[in-house]
Amino acid sequence: MSSLSGKVQTVLGLVEPTQLGCTMTHEHLTMSYKCCFVPPSSDQEALSEGHMEMKNLFWIKQNPYSHKENLLLYQETDAVKEELLHFKAAGGGAIVENTTTGISRDVKTLKKLAEETGVHIIAGAGFYVDGTHSPEIRVMSVEQLTDIIVNEILSGADGTNIKCGVIGEIGCSWPLTESEKKVLQATAHAQSQLGCPVIIHPGRHSDAPFQIIRILQEAGADLSKTVMSHLDRTIFDEKKLLEFGKLGCYLEYDLFGTELLNYQFNPDVDMPSDNERIARIRMLIDEGYEDRILMAHDIHTKNRLMNYGGHGYSHILKNIVPKMLIRGISQNRIDKILVENPKQWLTFKYR
Ligand SMILES: [Zn+2]
Repeated sequence: MSSLSGKVQTVLGLVEPTQLGCTMTHEHLTMSYKCCFVPPSSDQEALSEGHMEMKNLFWIKQNPYSHKENLLLYQETDAVKEELLHFKAAGGGAIVENTTTGISRDVKTLKKLAEETGVHIIAGAGFYVDGTHSPEIRVMSVEQLTDIIVNEILSGADGTNIKCGVIGEIGCSWPLTESEKKVLQATAHAQSQLGCPVIIHPGRHSDAPFQIIRILQEAGADLSKTVMSHLDRTIFDEKKLLEFGKLGCYLEYDLFGTELLNYQFNPDVDMPSDNERIARIRMLIDEGYEDRILMAHDIHTKNRLMNYGGHGYSHILKNIVPKMLIRGISQNRIDKILVENPKQWLTFKYR
């Protein structure tokens, strides 16, 4: 077996980290989000069925999890392929595809997309939130879960020889469940064997990222190679965010393009706008965290694809980067966030 140390593992094999270029560190290219359907209020039930059309697109944008067809991203491989070519033309180089067991990971399709577009695709090992854990997973020991994760990276995922290059997104709920806690411990054990990158989906509470980091740390994880996703909808208080930053993991703002009035999974949250995300990143840079910031869109529903009037995988490159420059963030720092930080994170430390 060739050594992973100093390399990045894509679905097409090992590459030199310098080959990646601009990298989106949290996206989905094919998945199903049926698990997280939110029934609409009784007067809007009819809207959850049927096809996506111009006249219901705004409703779907505001209620993305209440429209059944919108949750089936796996039906859009042709549109996704076209978008990846668009992403590449806009200067994109690599995409971390965070789909894990529970939301229909499909590494064969990822391999095909990588071959057909030339975009580097890195697949995710491990398990999504508790609601998607099978009865078999629930009764497994930490050691058994660790073996599965290690195997997905060293031998291949889902019965193929296509290997994952990161662990995650590892799904956590709030409050964290027993099964999720075991998966977190297994993640840390697998990471200490492999020296590999890890990425976490925290529960929707500002204490959740802290609790997760504590569990990972106690189980021996390498926080310098661990990403906390979705901070844009999780920690709002600036002081608390800076306190979290001190723990040493990567801080990911990965819901770029999402502008909602009501966040269906947590009505207490006022989802920030892209301008507010940029202001947050600017604040983190001013506080000295430029080595720790990552950005992405976390596309996981159809309505966010360009084919359905959405922003697509190139939104950050085409619209957010120019706005960052206007707000005084230098090209140097932008390159750090989009090229250098992902490269450092994705490179295996040993094995
Ligand atoms: Zn995700």
